[in-house]
Amino acid sequence: METRQIANKSVIIHNYNTIIVGSGAAGMNCAVHLYEFMEQKKVNNPQERIAVVTAGIGLGASRMSGSDKQTYYKMGTSPDVPDSAGEFAKSLTAAGCCHGDLALAEAVGSLREFYHLVQAGVPFPHDPIGSYIGYKTDNDPYERATSAGPKTSRFMSECLEKQVRRYGIPIIDGQEVTHLLTIGGGKAKQIAAVVTIDKSKLAEENLPINVFFCTNLVLAAGGPGALYKTSVYPKGQVGIHSLALQAGLIAENLTESQFGLASIKFRWNVSGSFCQVIPRIFSADADGNDEREFLADFFPSMSRMATNIFLKGYQWPFDPQRISDHQSSLIDILVFRERQNNRRVFMDFLHNPVGSDSMKQFDIGSLEPEAFEYLKKTGALQDTPIERLERMNPLAIEIYKENGIDLYSEPLEIAVCAQHNNGGFAMNKWWQSNIDHTFIIGEMAGTHGVKRPGGSALNAGQVGGLRAAEYIVNVYGCDPPDYSNHQAEIDRQLKQIITKLEAWGSSSGLVPEEVIDKIQNRMSSSAGHIREMNDARRALAEAVKLYKEIQKQGFKLENKKSIISAIQAEHLALTSAAYLKAIMELLEQGGGSRGSYLVLDGDGIEIHPDISNKTTGKTLKFKPENEKLRNSILQIEYDRDEPDLFRCNTIKPRPAPAPGKAFEPAWQDYREGKIYGC
Ligand SMILES: Cc1cc2nc3c(=O)[nH]c(=O)nc-3n(C[C@H](O)[C@H](O)[C@H](O)COP(=O)(O)OP(=O)(O)OC[C@H]3O[C@@H](n4cnc5c(N)ncnc54)[C@H](O)[C@@H]3O)c2cc1C
Repeated sequence: METRQIANKSVIIHNYNTIIVGSGAAGMNCAVHLYEFMEQKKVNNPQERIAVVTAGIGLGASRMSGSDKQTYYKMGTSPDVPDSAGEFAKSLTAAGCCHGDLALAEAVGSLREFYHLVQAGVPFPHDPIGSYIGYKTDNDPYERATSAGPKTSRFMSECLEKQVRRYGIPIIDGQEVTHLLTIGGGKAKQIAAVVTIDKSKLAEENLPINVFFCTNLVLAAGGPGALYKTSVYPKGQVGIHSLALQAGLIAENLTESQFGLASIKFRWNVSGSFCQVIPRIFSADADGNDEREFLADFFPSMSRMATNIFLKGYQWPFDPQRISDHQSSLIDILVFRERQNNRRVFMDFLHNPVGSDSMKQFDIGSLEPEAFEYLKKTGALQDTPIERLERMNPLAIEIYKENGIDLYSEPLEIAVCAQHNNGGFAMNKWWQSNIDHTFIIGEMAGTHGVKRPGGSALNAGQVGGLRAAEYIVNVYGCDPPDYSNHQAEIDRQLKQIITKLEAWGSSSGLVPEEVIDKIQNRMSSSAGHIREMNDARRALAEAVKLYKEIQKQGFKLENKKSIISAIQAEHLALTSAAYLKAIMELLEQGGGSRGSYLVLDGDGIEIHPDISNKTTGKTLKFKPENEKLRNSILQIEYDRDEPDLFRCNTIKPRPAPAPGKAFEPAWQDYREGKIYGC
């Protein structure tokens, strides 16, 4: 560590072989693997070569998010249900736009990483003989899903953190990433350093800037959850997508995110048992009065309505292919519509669903067989939803209690929220991005296609960290960098950043919080689970204009701490333009409703005969999926000279590699390090 003077400011310089940005389950796991691979290679003091740099050890989706029993999707471990990596990879690629080589690598690495977590201390349940019991998620015959309870991802990141600390790897907390410093150009381009503001030292006179130089960079900063107003991502999960885009990293599938029902007072998914116990779902006015059973008018019978509330449990993400004919995603549409009409929506666990005058009363014995058999099998046929939840999953009640909500006495306010980013940054089968020495893992990596099996995000994050670490240690080595030949280039960029940040002051400019609010409202209404061409076009134009205004006017800072909100507002402004550009491009290519969003279109499929456009009075219709686009991945790249700031390109998903070689030649390839070259 040394201090240098740049633009009359003291800047603290650090030098590591590998910097990992982000301390969620993905980042922590990569740090552990880097240490272990270095140790295997007999590298001295691995802990001095690696550092985890993070905005907050307690922040991010892994630490702060979950559901009734947060799912980890791994290859089947049932003693009597056979599974294979090939079948697992097929499940990952089934809905299209997913690279076959990445899916196969996630499949092959799945059990290795699962047992790595078991060893780290994550309490995944096993039976008396030692089998890790799985359960079936939707369309999964292999019982691949498992869970350590509502807080699986939290346990993962905490157990891995303990290991990181045991190894003595530094975790440098409180660092807001401000810039990714690049050197060179074309194929020789490299991200040489991560520039941060130390949030713990904002009160000091000097702007507290750290520069972390590195030979290798692993980006594990999660999804840009703060893009959306209606979001179940933890508050403050901003991510660093804009910085990665500006550094030249190519993103893929940014159109594909996951949306679904979640509680909003305490942000948590209400998937699984929360729905399977079939709570009453009602709406109320802003003060909680004038209760209405708004679902009842849209279902033909109590049995159908109650069964669909049950099914929402494991058909959790909003899915346009599950709307027509009164399927479970009609519930998301109705919840959204109710909230659009300024009504609040609640789940009430004290009462069973209430129907309309023409419906029979709720009767658990009249549920459709799939729901009834499940509840019978789990012994959850009690009279009320809360009793059924107590029976099925008491931890689901506990998690709300821990967060100040008593499901025995108050209903749970819900909304259709942004939950996960299936797209992200492009990389090869070693999770290396289009810029050599930079790797992307966890939710920042765009490994998922249009749909992903529930729980596969956590698996992908673990396998990605393993793959990146193996490649770094075996191909790029373990030494810190020497960028002395690039000093002028580095100093110029550092001066530019400092000058920009110093120019933001108290007298003029945009107000960061207002900018963030605008972005979040726009993204939730135009880039969420309901999209429309003209609206997306307008939203993109506004997003680009806002970003350009920020460049011209800068920010007005109320106090020293406001600089963090300003940095985040700038990130989100560019990121939102990228997402909207991708959405617009796909709509122009003829993209329809798929994954977790619906595209409104006057010529499409009716959502429901009684759901119409308020202005035109016509029934609302949506465009079906354009299946041809399953075989093309939309890429997006930052280009400041483009009118919309981004350039788009489409590529074909890479196939899974053909079956491998015989043992002896494969062994030779491994010994000679050839496996990293192909
Ligand atoms: C409610 C909910 C339920 C979910 N349930 C499941 C599930 O059941 N199964 C499943 O597989 N997945 C699930 N997911 C998704 C999964 O939890 C996430 O994809 C995963 O935890 C992401 O891990 P990560 O390590 O990539 O990022 P995160 O855990 O989000 O960590 C990001 C890290 O980056 C840091 N960071 C962020 N921005 C910056 C910045 N600007 N500067 C510096 N540092 C920064 C943060 O502090 C944090 O340490 C769920 C997500 C949510 C929101």
